[in-house]
Amino acid sequence: MNLQLQDKVIVVTGGAKGIGEAIVRGASEEGAVPVIVDRDVEAAEKLRGELSQRNKKCGVICCDLIDPNACRDAVNSTLATHRRIDALVNNAGINDRVGLEQGGTEVFVKSLERNLLHVYNMTHFALAALKLTNGCIVNIASKVAITGQGGTSGYAASKGAILALTREWAVELLAYKIRVNAIVPAEVDTPLYQQWLATFPDPDEKLRSIVRRIPLGARMTKPDEIAATALFLLSHHAEHITGQHIFVDGGYVHLDRALS
Ligand code: NAP
Repeated sequence: MNLQLQDKVIVVTGGAKGIGEAIVRGASEEGAVPVIVDRDVEAAEKLRGELSQRNKKCGVICCDLIDPNACRDAVNSTLATHRRIDALVNNAGINDRVGLEQGGTEVFVKSLERNLLHVYNMTHFALAALKLTNGCIVNIASKVAITGQGGTSGYAASKGAILALTREWAVELLAYKIRVNAIVPAEVDTPLYQQWLATFPDPDEKLRSIVRRIPLGARMTKPDEIAATALFLLSHHAEHITGQHIFVDGGYVHLDRALS
């Protein structure tokens, strides 16, 4: 299947590691020009270096997306270098466990800054460029928006809002033929996930207890599997798909719990 993403400029927030890295690699394989927007300069430059050794173009913009000015600058810098933006993947986020009991207004708002506000800001600043290309947006949400997790109000609120904004923007941007979809992962093997596992006294046992509840194959989702869905949604093959929440989770959220 030719995704026809050749030379498309695809901005990927959090593109240096994990799911974002897989999307960057996949986009690059398809001949697109991924632009990594990430605060981990070392990981981003390492990835760019690896891709450029294979004569693949890749942009790197190092910033913390929490700063709205950094979001605006990331868009402007992409346009200054690449002259266009064909797609935006709002992927960066962190399950920072800001809960009800250990929380408070200030830390809750901080969590929204980490997980939600840059999704709005990046989309807001990229919109003029996306209109010119009839571009495309993919937002990375989380199953926490649907199932809850406990102890993570800021993250749950952000990911729920991302699902709502996916529908809202799909409607608002119909006139420009800009499609907006969300992917809803559950348990994906990434550096962030490994960090979270490491907080348990027995990470291996914790992992085993999770994967046995994943209906399809009793295994974690691979970052590549999220990336494949993202690239499909960004491609012309998905040109009649908008406003959708696509669960790539081995049936974790919707299938019968008795299966486990
Ligand atoms: P990851 O392994 O931590 O990779 C994310 C990358 O984004 C990291 O390089 C991170 O830098 C960067 N980043 C995060 N916040 C940033 C910010 N404010 N400014 C700039 N860069 C930032 O994470 P992942 O597991 O791939 O997760 C990617 C997305 O999928 C997140 O939105 C997450 O909520 C969602 N998700 C993941 C899972 C899962 O099981 N992994 C499940 C559901 C949803 P640092 O390392 O410096 O933070």
